[in-house]
Amino acid sequence: MITPPRGALTALRMLQEAGFEAYFVGGCVRDRLLNRPVNDWDIATNAQPSVSLELFERTIPTGLQHGTVTAVLADEAVEITTYRVDVSYSDGRRPDEIRFTPALREDLARRDFTINAMAWDPRRDVIIDPFDGQKDLRAGLIRAVGRPLDRFTEDGLRPFRAVRFASTLGLDIEAETWAAIPLALETARKVAIERIRVEWLKALDGRRAAWAMDALWRLGLFDVFLPELATLSEARRARIFNSCATPLPSIPRLATFLHAERAASAEEIARRLRFPNEVIQGVAAVIAAWGFDPAAPRRDAEARAALAALTPTIYGHLRSARRALAPQPDLDAFDAFDARLTALDAWRGPLTTKDLPIHGGDVIQRLALRPSPLIGRVLERALWRAWADPQAATREALLAALPALLEEAQ
Ligand code: ATP
Ligand code: MG
Repeated sequence: MITPPRGALTALRMLQEAGFEAYFVGGCVRDRLLNRPVNDWDIATNAQPSVSLELFERTIPTGLQHGTVTAVLADEAVEITTYRVDVSYSDGRRPDEIRFTPALREDLARRDFTINAMAWDPRRDVIIDPFDGQKDLRAGLIRAVGRPLDRFTEDGLRPFRAVRFASTLGLDIEAETWAAIPLALETARKVAIERIRVEWLKALDGRRAAWAMDALWRLGLFDVFLPELATLSEARRARIFNSCATPLPSIPRLATFLHAERAASAEEIARRLRFPNEVIQGVAAVIAAWGFDPAAPRRDAEARAALAALTPTIYGHLRSARRALAPQPDLDAFDAFDARLTALDAWRGPLTTKDLPIHGGDVIQRLALRPSPLIGRVLERALWRAWADPQAATREALLAALPALLEEAQ
C-alpha cells in the first residue's frame, strides 16, 4: 500500500509529539485505500495555525485565513489545516466565514462526500470514518455527507465534483445524492465558470468519461455551462458523449462538443468558458475547417495547398475530432479518409512562402523589380510549383524559373 512521504510523516509526528491531534485527511486517505497515487498528503490538526507557524522551521502562511499553514520539510510542502467548520454560505460559492473547532468529527462533517470525509493516523494505524466512507468505497458509491440537498445548496460546485469523482475513480453516485442535484441547479449557476470548467476537464480525463458526460446531461448540469448542447439531436449528443471514452487534448475535444456551431460562436463559447487563448483560437480554426473534405482535392498539389491553408496543427486537431465522432457504419470510408490524411501528414515540403528556398529579396534582385504585392504573388506561384513537385523545387530550379513565374503572376 502507498505510504506517505517522509516530510508529511515528520510533520504529523511533530504535531503529535507537541501534544496535539494530527491526521491525514481527505483525498489522500481515500486514494490510499483505493491504492491510487496520492496528490497531496493534507494534515488536519487541533493545533491553532500559530502553533504550526512556531513549530516548523520553514512555513508559508498563504492559507492562514482558512486556517492553513504550509510547512516545508525535506523539500516537501505539507498543508496543515486546523479543524474548522464553515459558518455560512450566503452566495452558494464559498463560506463567508470559518470557525475553528476542537472536534475532528465536525471538521469531517463539513466535507463533501463520505469517501472524502475520513482521517487516518498512520502511527496508530486508525481510520476515523464517522460517515462510513470505507463502506461506500467498497460499494463504489459517491454519497453526500449529511442531507444531500442541503450540501448542494451550500456549495454549487459539489454536484460537478460528484460527477468528476465518479468519473476519475470509477464510482456511481448514490441514489439520494443523485436525486438532489437537479434540485440544486440554481446554486450551481452561481459558481465561477472556470471552476466548473476545471471539474469538467477532470471528468473528461476519467475512466468513466463517456458515462460522466451523459450524467452531466441527465442531471441538468450541462445547462449551467454549455446550454448549447440542448439544441442538438439526441443521436448527435450521444455520439459526442460516447466519443469521450477516448481522451483527446482540449482543442479537438472542445471541437467535438462545438462542431455544430459556427466558428464565431464556437469561439465565443470557448471564451465564455475561459479557456486559454490558444485553445480559443484553435477551436475556432478547427470549427471553421470542419466541412473540409480530404477526398475532394484531386491533385496532390491541391491537397498540399489545403494542408498548408489549414496548417498541419489545425489539420491534426480536425482529424482527431472528426475521427472521434465517426459513426460505426462509416468506418470503411473513414479508413480511406485516414489513409489520405496519413499521406498528407508525411509531407515535409514547404507549406507557406516563408518555407521556400527563395525569398522576396531574390525575386526583387533577379527580376529587377521594386517591392510591391507582385513579389508576393511570384512567391505564391513558386509555392504552387513546390506543392506540385517538391523534389524538383530546389533553390536553383526556382531561381531559374523566376521569369516564367513572373509571367504567371502578372
Ligand atoms: P484531488 O485528488 O482532486 O486533489 P481531493 O479529494 O484531495 O481530490 P481537493 O479539492 O484537493 O480534493 O480537496 C481536499 C478535501 O477537501 C476533499 O477531499 C474534501 O474533503 C474537502 N473539500 C474540497 N472541496 C470541497 C467542497 N467544495 N465542499 C466540501 N468539501 C470539500
Ligand atoms: Mg487534493
